[in-house]
Amino acid sequence: MEEKLILIATSNAGKVREMERAFEGLPVRLVPLSRIREILPDAGEIEEPVEDGATFLENARIKARYYMEQTGLAALADDSGLSVEVLGGAPGVYSARYAGVHGDDAANNAKLIADIRARGTENAAAAYHCALVLALTAGEELAAEGVCTGFIRPEARGTEGFGYDPYFYCADGRTMAELTREEKHAISHRGAALNNMKEQLRTLFQVK
Ligand code: IMP
Repeated sequence: MEEKLILIATSNAGKVREMERAFEGLPVRLVPLSRIREILPDAGEIEEPVEDGATFLENARIKARYYMEQTGLAALADDSGLSVEVLGGAPGVYSARYAGVHGDDAANNAKLIADIRARGTENAAAAYHCALVLALTAGEELAAEGVCTGFIRPEARGTEGFGYDPYFYCADGRTMAELTREEKHAISHRGAALNNMKEQLRTLFQVK
């Protein structure tokens, strides 16, 4: 079967690797944004879309549709983040820039713990969310979501993972940053969303 080209709307090498591993065995060739010129040699600079959706799913859809329209290729985009019950769902879609600067994990974590303490607790129910949207054509898309529940506590543990992981306690008492990559994939929001998307792709391509 001919492989379907799918543009991955991220240049994050870790995410690309995780997607490649998740979709092994499917007739797809995943091409990250950073290698788009290998398939579209004349592609100009593509500006980033404005992610102004109110939900993870909306933001993933905005990105997937945008890159599909810009390139004419099927495009897969993800959006993810943390939501904390006692903070009314925050940081939510602002997870990457909760403290103001995009990707400043230390500042984001410091603000998260301070905000939770200000609510009078040190054990806050939380969930990681991941939304994936594959825009196939203008009117056709696949969408998948994954959730991983746990607790945010003020003691940081572990050195794996990224973002809020050292403060995110899983059901077994370890933090997400204490899990191996494989252990994290098995329980994570991104792992769940990717598995769901894989099932939908299996159906689409009629692969057993
Ligand atoms: P994005 O989906 O790459 O934009 O990620 C949004 C933000 O959510 C990241 O910058 C992290 O702060 C947070 N986040 C998403 N997934 C994870 C995770 O698996 N561990 C820790 N933080 C995460």
